[in-house]
Amino acid sequence: MAYKTINPYTNEVVKEYPEATDAELMSAIDTSYQLFKQFKNQPISDRAKILHQIAKNMRNHADELAEAATVDMGKLLRESRGEVELCAIIADWFADHAEDLLKPDKIDTIANGEAEIQKHATGVIMMVEPWNFPYYQIMRVFAPNFMVGNTMLLKHASNTPTSAKMFADIVESAGAPKGSLTNLFLSYDQVTEAIADPRIQGVALTGSERGGRSVAEAAGKNLKKNTMELGGMDAFIVLSDANIDDVNDIAWRARLYNAGQVCTSSKRFIVMDNLYDEFVAKLKENFAKVKPGDPMDDETTLAPMNSEKARKKLQQQVDRAVAAGATVEYGNEPIDLPGQFFKPTILTNITKDNPAYGEEMFGPVAHVYKVHSEEEAIELANDSMFGLGGIVFGGDSNHAAEVAAKVETGMVFVNNFMVSLPELPFGGVKNSGYGREMSQIGQMAFVNEQLIVKA
Ligand code: NDP
Repeated sequence: MAYKTINPYTNEVVKEYPEATDAELMSAIDTSYQLFKQFKNQPISDRAKILHQIAKNMRNHADELAEAATVDMGKLLRESRGEVELCAIIADWFADHAEDLLKPDKIDTIANGEAEIQKHATGVIMMVEPWNFPYYQIMRVFAPNFMVGNTMLLKHASNTPTSAKMFADIVESAGAPKGSLTNLFLSYDQVTEAIADPRIQGVALTGSERGGRSVAEAAGKNLKKNTMELGGMDAFIVLSDANIDDVNDIAWRARLYNAGQVCTSSKRFIVMDNLYDEFVAKLKENFAKVKPGDPMDDETTLAPMNSEKARKKLQQQVDRAVAAGATVEYGNEPIDLPGQFFKPTILTNITKDNPAYGEEMFGPVAHVYKVHSEEEAIELANDSMFGLGGIVFGGDSNHAAEVAAKVETGMVFVNNFMVSLPELPFGGVKNSGYGREMSQIGQMAFVNEQLIVKA
């Protein structure tokens, strides 16, 4: 059976789930489609009430939800709790703002009559989501689409089935009609089949570049609108006048949060030569302070990675990087615990011909580069196939923001930790994908912006 909860701290198989049958998939599409036909004509305020209730239920069940996420994919329990609270914040935000965001826009026109753009639901949306934030990834798509009246099918990652089921149960327990969100343990072929179905009108995927290409190909072939939130190799640029204490305080957390398994983790630290030595020394010191252990324990500060497969892949990537000449400044040693732990690692001297130069490492491994000018920093930051997020630290925040604007990514934070909030659009350019989730832009992702001209 492909869908399994395997606790990455104990390696115990906790629960297995049978895959959905084709008949279950067809029935779920039909239920969702029938609901969509009613939903689109109902007042949005009805759905806002349910979405607020979903937020409430998430808060009421925060402990169970957090524990399930930690058992599914290993993250620190306090980070799981934070994720549940963020989901509730997102749900409340869309419940409060969607009506306004979805109001018709009047257009000044010389056409004969009054013109406006109305915003309507489009149909059933197929969601494909990853394990790293097992609730938040769903909520980013669910909340805006629920508000407009789209209905959804969810194919979650095969290693976080319990979280997927619990999310769907919360939605149902809040009074959302059957078909609003159906969690299905689907195979890749069934996802392709669903995408080809005429009742499915949109596809939203968060995941790897490889998964994205394959799902986007099916969507393209069937002319289905899609959004792709893919990988990243975010740069953390430290300009020569940056406040080094602030940099040091944020840098290690920007890499190690969620055991380094965040698409917007800072993966490449690009540091001006005057601050480089101090930066590396402090990063080592901070990496050495983290305490691996039981993710349920509040004392633990380093969680295991999500699976044995992920840890082995990361080890192979680091081995290849070292074989190609990278220097291990810190880490790359086993941790004497049974779980899927990877010791925080710092690599330097990564040359352009090293595979690590262009490869996303989805775990606690930092790449650090020394640069001699701002131009070199920007050029290095942009010399990547990815373009998701980034951070720029500089003494003059206006100037640092000018540097940020030259970084070719969808999001950059200046003198700050990167955060995700419902009012801020989330997404990237280049191989990090296209489209945006959250905010007013995400609200419109699967909306029919219909022109009505009334003479
Ligand atoms: P994957 O692409 O392997 O998995 C993500 C989801 O896609 C899973 O549900 C997976 O199912 C599914 N999937 C993968 N291939 C297919 C396919 N051909 N057909 C249908 N479904 C498919 O990603 P990872 O698990 O490797 O997740 C980590 C990646 O996600 C990283 O590269 C990371 O950067 C990126 N990511 C991007 C984010 C963003 O917002 N931009 C946020 C978080 C992560 P299954 O589990 O069954 O294989």
